[in-house]
Amino acid sequence: MNPAEAAAAEQSKGTLRVVQLYPRDMNIYGDWGNALVLQRRIAWHGYTPELLEYNVGDPFPENVDIIVGGGGQDSGQLVIQDDLQARAGVLTDLAENGTPMLLICGLYQLFGRFFKTRTGAVIPGIGVLDVETHGGDERLIGNVKVATSEFGEVLGYENHSGQTTLGSGVRPLGTTAKGTGNNSNDGHEGARYRNIVASYLHGSLLPKNPAIADFLIRTAAERRFGSFTPGTPDDSFAVLAREHAARRPR
Ligand code: GLN
Repeated sequence: MNPAEAAAAEQSKGTLRVVQLYPRDMNIYGDWGNALVLQRRIAWHGYTPELLEYNVGDPFPENVDIIVGGGGQDSGQLVIQDDLQARAGVLTDLAENGTPMLLICGLYQLFGRFFKTRTGAVIPGIGVLDVETHGGDERLIGNVKVATSEFGEVLGYENHSGQTTLGSGVRPLGTTAKGTGNNSNDGHEGARYRNIVASYLHGSLLPKNPAIADFLIRTAAERRFGSFTPGTPDDSFAVLAREHAARRPR
């Protein structure tokens, strides 16, 4: 530790550990940016971020404060499926205990009951989320705007064949104002359950939607330290990114 790092550590409100699930196989359309945003905003709020990767075969980290998981091609989902089943117990416990999680697209699907691909392969999920996904012939691609009650207007980009249907055990993240979201029928996007935010939106999501990043950080700090004292994040880039994303055509 150099003197500047030592001084920062001394003033830190505490360490928050972020674990990115399967970045080697499940990380497309910039999803890794979600972990980078958490790292930066945790520091802006005066805490010390610790960013860990979990890949197939790794030992599972202890003391996890936030989980982020990205999207992937069907082939990536097939690669991780066995390891994910082996970790179903620890991930379910973390979810049920209220660990904040952000799950994007391919891992959103696999935290559900199953993803049946277009070619008929059934990739089992871990059933944390009461959702199921069936691959369709149409790829749903483009920019998306979602109206949400918790986070205001959420902006992002979707690219998936999966059509996801929500069961009664989860509620939608919001309603699509542009784009498709969960499926071609009901106008819903994403899912909320305990402290999990699941969404089809890449882009990455968090640089354009700091309200979701701060929900994850606040929840993590409250669980770890009993309270959250916000700092003063610099939102100027987020504001620009939102303006730019909102102007994009579908
Ligand atoms: N392979 C899945 C699908 O096409 C997930 C895609 C993604 O994560 N972008 O539905």
